Parts: sequence; C-alpha cells; structure tokens
Amino acid sequence: MNLLIVDANLAERLATRRLLEDSCAVREAGSGREALAAQDAETSCLLLETTLPDMDCIDFLVQLRTLNLDLAVVLLCHSASEDFLARARDCGADDIQIKGVSADALLRSIRGAIKRRALDISLRREQARPELIYRLIDESSDLFFALGSNGEIVETNLAAEQALGFSRQDLVGSRLNNHPLFDRIGSRLLERLRETVLNESVRIDGELVMPDGSMLPVEINSMRVRVSNQDFLVAVARNISERRALEEHLRRLSLNDALTGIANRRAFEARLAEEWRRAGRSGAPLSLLLIDVDHFKAYNDTLGHLAGDEALRTVATRLQAALRRPEDLLARYGGEEFAVLLPATNTAGATLFAHHLLSSLHRAALPHPASPTAEHVTVSIGGSSTERFAERSASALIASADAALYRAKAGGRDRVEFNSL
Ligand code: GH3
Ligand code: MG
Ligand code: MG
Repeated sequence: MNLLIVDANLAERLATRRLLEDSCAVREAGSGREALAAQDAETSCLLLETTLPDMDCIDFLVQLRTLNLDLAVVLLCHSASEDFLARARDCGADDIQIKGVSADALLRSIRGAIKRRALDISLRREQARPELIYRLIDESSDLFFALGSNGEIVETNLAAEQALGFSRQDLVGSRLNNHPLFDRIGSRLLERLRETVLNESVRIDGELVMPDGSMLPVEINSMRVRVSNQDFLVAVARNISERRALEEHLRRLSLNDALTGIANRRAFEARLAEEWRRAGRSGAPLSLLLIDVDHFKAYNDTLGHLAGDEALRTVATRLQAALRRPEDLLARYGGEEFAVLLPATNTAGATLFAHHLLSSLHRAALPHPASPTAEHVTVSIGGSSTERFAERSASALIASADAALYRAKAGGRDRVEFNSL
C-alpha cells in the first residue's frame, strides 16, 4: 500500500510513519496544499490530521474529492465533535482514528477505508450506468429504434427525433408499417426481422422518408432480442448520404462498367474524342458499331432480372473475346447496348467485323426462350464509318450508327446495317 501522511506536526507525523513503514510505502506532506499536490494515482490511502496549517480540513476534503474520488482517506485526530465527524464523512472521509492507536489497529482501519472506498466507487458507477447508457444513446448520431414485435416503436433516441424532424410523440407508439417515415423500408425491415433468429444481426440499406418528402439514405442494422420474456426489434439507422455521394462520385470517375467489367460509356466517349482527333490528323478511317441485344425485355420478363444481368455479362465476354486488335474498344454504352470503336477501319472492314460479332454470339447459343427472332440471344448491329473528320463530328457518327441500328431492328433483328458519314 502507498500511503500519504498529512500532518503539520513533525513529531506526530514521524510517529505515524514509524507505525506503518514496515508494511507500507509512506510519503509525507506538511500542509493541505502540499498534500493536494503530492497525491497521485499510486497513492491508495491518505492519513489526514484534522487540523491543517493552511486550510480547513472539510475544505481540504471537498477539494480532494473534486480531484480524486478513488483515494481512501482516514482522519487522524486527538478529539473531534460529532458534528465535525459527520460532515467529514459526508465530504469523503472513509474512516476516523484516534492518534496513538496501535499499528495493527491503524492498518485495519486503512485496509477497511480502502475497501469501503472501492465499494463506494463501484456503487456510484453502477448507479450512474443507466443514466450513462441513456446519454450515450442520446448523444449518438445514429438513430436508435426499439420496436415491439408488431412493429410499434417503443423507444427512440434524441438523434432520431432531431435528424428526422419528428417529435418523440410522433414516433413512439406508431407502427413501422404505417408511419410515413418508413414508407420505403418498413415492410421490408419487418419481414426480414421476423425471418431472423434471435440475436442475429440483419442489415438493410434503404431510404427513410423525411417530413418534407425528401429521402434520407440509411443503413439499418437490426436484431431481434428478448428482454423480460418479450421480443423486441432493436434497429440502429445510420445516415449514409455522404457514403452514397462518395460512391456515386467514384462511380462517375470510374472507367469500367460495374456489371460487365468492360469499358463504360464515359471511357467510350473519351476514347471516341481521342480517336476522332487522331484520325483527323492521320486521315485513316474510323468506324463505330452500336450493338443492341434483341428482345431483351422479354428475356428479363421470362427468366428474371438476375438471369438478364448474367446474360449481359456473357454477351460482353463474347464480344470482348471477338475483338482482334488491341486498339479496338468495346464498351457498355447503356442498358443492353454496347459500342465498338474500330480505329483505322473502313466500311468494308467494319461490316465484316460486325458479321463476325453476330456469328460469335450464334456460337455462344445462349438460350432465349421468349425471342421471336431465334432460339438463342441475338443482337442487332448498326455501324457507321467516316473519313471526313473536318466536316463531321463524333456525335454525328454516333447518330449515323444509331440510324443504321434502327434499320437493323426494323429489318428483322439479328443483322447488320451500315451507314457512311
Ligand atoms: P429490341 O429487340 O427492340 O431491342 O427489344 P428490347 O426488349 O431489347 O428493347 P427495350 O429497349 O424495350 O428493352 C431493353 C431491356 O433491357 C429493358 C431493360 O430492363 C433491359 N435492361 C437494360 N439494362 C439492363 C441490365 O443492366 N440488366 C438487365 N437484366 N436488364 C437490363
Ligand atoms: Mg436498347
Ligand atoms: Mg434491345
């Protein structure tokens, strides 16, 4: 044990030290101020003479307790009034001893004081816990909801009220599936929660509908818990609008299409502008193919959107594999449309290449049960070539290929049509 003896009377201080120094590490202070400066985290108990030269003992205790709650204090006195002792206890003295008691009695008193202090501290912390938890929940910027098993809101936090612009009365008591806030996510959330096992966490991304009708993108982590034999759903919603904005920003900066992995439209447009300038300088022809999957809506409608995505990936892979030169660029132009840029390629070369693409898709033979054109997935291709870079523009080349694509569709699909610009 580390002790600090606070006593202005040198002889009595030394007497106390002698009683304790065999079993404890002992330091000394001659005044209240000295003692306040000397106490630290190592000190476990302070032995305090009730008469201090520089301050009132009660004032000293009050100051000490604002600095240090954990330190045990044993008062040492020759005599003291009942009233003084009661006040000293109120202000944080843990025990009182008459000066001159035996070493054993003093040590017992010190140990008891330390134990009492520790107990007192843990009791205080325990009492503070619920309040602390409320404060933590209220101070959090996440939105907390506790729901009854029918989806009624039973608790929420300050952040939810403030961020959402609904008062507590608006929220508590209302049902998730008929509060406007949860229009876009409520039923999905309840459904997912009802399916889940107790204590298993479920994450849902969606939007909360704000009172002004705007959408707040949120990630909701929720769990079904059992408290006092009742099931609750606890849900924590986090505002992810910043994350969404960042993702959108990164997506816009990205040059690859997320679904197929090939170049996206942004990359395509940048390359078209570059190739247009280059071809303008070199005078070599430039060709463009626009490729549109035939009857793709029907494909989705019969086989489902996920199968549709998979088919788009397959088509992209097949088309990519059919490219012959490193300078040729395949891009996803939009939905189920692709574009191929063929530098230094004239109408004849590009038409031949377009037919090569059609047949590589025939060979892939991806079943399309709902297509009136063929038994498998086919594409229509509109192409355009130009050598007149000064008088024409890149967007005119796209429009010209698009017009050819329209003819390919109108002419029965699974075919190539070509324009010259
Ligand atoms: P057409 O032969 O005239 O081109 O008919 P179509 O059904 O292919 O044309 P339409 O433009 O009517 O439909 C295109 C379909 O492509 C509708 C759309 O849902 C689907 N689509 C677009 N992008 C995607 C995607 O990323 N994934 C899936 N699965 N489908 C997509
Ligand atoms: Mg289309
Ligand atoms: Mg189509």
